[in-house]
Amino acid sequence: MTATRNRILQIIVVTLLVATLSLKPKQAQAQEGIVVENPQAVPDFGRSITFTAKIKASSPIQQASLLFRGINEEATRVETLQVAEDGSVNFVYDASLNVFPPFSWVVYWFQATLSDGKTYTSEPNRIQYNDNRFPWREVSQANVTVHWYAGDDSFGTSALNSAGAGMLSMKDFIPLSLTEPLHIYIYSNVTDLRDTMLLGGREWSGGHAHADLGVVLVAIPPGPSQLTEMESKIPHELAHIMLYRALGDQYEKQPAWLVEGIASMVEIYPNPDYDRALEIASANNTLIPIVDLCDSFPADSGSAFLAYAQSQSFVTYIRDSFGLSGLSRLTGTYSEGFECDLGVTKALGASLNQLDARWRENVLGQNRTGVALRNLLPFLLLLVLVLIVPIWGAIDLVRQKRKHAAQSK
Ligand SMILES: [Zn+2]
Repeated sequence: MTATRNRILQIIVVTLLVATLSLKPKQAQAQEGIVVENPQAVPDFGRSITFTAKIKASSPIQQASLLFRGINEEATRVETLQVAEDGSVNFVYDASLNVFPPFSWVVYWFQATLSDGKTYTSEPNRIQYNDNRFPWREVSQANVTVHWYAGDDSFGTSALNSAGAGMLSMKDFIPLSLTEPLHIYIYSNVTDLRDTMLLGGREWSGGHAHADLGVVLVAIPPGPSQLTEMESKIPHELAHIMLYRALGDQYEKQPAWLVEGIASMVEIYPNPDYDRALEIASANNTLIPIVDLCDSFPADSGSAFLAYAQSQSFVTYIRDSFGLSGLSRLTGTYSEGFECDLGVTKALGASLNQLDARWRENVLGQNRTGVALRNLLPFLLLLVLVLIVPIWGAIDLVRQKRKHAAQSK
């Protein structure tokens, strides 16, 4: 029985193979005119990308060009090529001026106009613009790969475990998506990471998630605090990627305080200095109004730190007050395109400023007398009514008695 099935399978496979092979010449015919041999693109991270190939043409080449773009870019760069007699082409792209994000994919292909006046296009090739300044090692599980260059084997394993723990901590309110690969690059120090961000053309901000690329960059030095750092930084950045995968184009519509608040909330070891920063800012009355954290976070590192601390605390307050369904109502309304303040009103029934005030009162203990007074106000009114009416009556009674006394005199 099994033997027969295997035989049938073999026949199917062979038939498919023959069918595929017989398609080959047709494909070659479809791109008549030019054949591009040995296309290569070699990045020197932060400096250049060298493109080389040999273009074979059926008739003399009038003009040849190299076309390339970042995988998620819309604009394609076009460079005219000098073709050597043997068809060799070579172009060095200055990657220090017009940068691609680190670890992003670059797609490139060739075009040539031949003496018949027609323009022929090659098949596209792609390369990953890796930060090849470091001897990366890697370890993977499922579709998650950790890359690191400092620290031993257990360093990589711990990082992979932190990614798993992060997924667990966010799974109840962020849909997990691992159909696309996910890469975590761990730099051993902040300077190396900051260089990458500068060379990659983005400002540095702690760790970073290239959500659209499925790439996380963090700086974690091997040492006694590596585990706490892994368990806060890796889940945080993964949350950005999972949110992006869940929300797609609507991700950009979410306010900064909400996205950063959610990402900070899934950290397994939240930054212990957040509470202290909140206390000090609350006492000095220097908290940033949440409404100012809608579009982006402050650029200077001190205010940015406070912005993270506030967002983490504020979003946790929302979750505790309105539940996980409150949070998903929020992302839902922002996805519909509601602006920052209106989204909160629609999803949670209070304006952003009202919610900000309640958070300051309930979590930071601000304005306790004010809150106490407001809570007591109905009772105070009642007290006034209860007391004033009899007093008024008493005064009236005394007046009337005096009147009577005067009349009787
Ligand atoms: Zn973040």
